[in-house]
Amino acid sequence: MGSDCLFCRIVAGEIPATLVRETDTTLAFRDIDPKAPVHVLVIPKEHYADVATLAQGDPGLAADVLATSAAVAEDEGLLGDGFRLMFNTGTYGGQEVFHVHAHLLGGAPLGPMLARDLA
Ligand code: 5GP
Ligand code: ZN
Repeated sequence: MGSDCLFCRIVAGEIPATLVRETDTTLAFRDIDPKAPVHVLVIPKEHYADVATLAQGDPGLAADVLATSAAVAEDEGLLGDGFRLMFNTGTYGGQEVFHVHAHLLGGAPLGPMLARDLA
């Protein structure tokens, strides 16, 4: 991928981001348009389009994304009151950036899982 992908460009340092944690394989940075007091995006450095492609292509790397998410949740003081970890995927999931990212949301009650009941 690389220059066409926004988050690959953040990994490459070509676009600035407020980093909160970095490992050999993952990066965590604050969302530019936060939807909660804590809103951090956690990504694998390697490009995968979405969570399904990542989980099927490299389950170990998917586990790294979860481990980094948990470490950030602890650093941000979210373990006591809880948090939400979310992967928007594809059209129905509302995904806008096609480099897989976990949304780590917390710091206040987050309300219902979905804004509307679709069932
Ligand atoms: P999606 O809708 O794909 O699940 O989420 C994409 C997220 O990326 C959005 O929450 C959006 O605010 C965030 N975002 C988009 N562009 C940038 C950027 O340049 N920097 C950062 N830090 N976040 C971004
Ligand atoms: Zn990418």
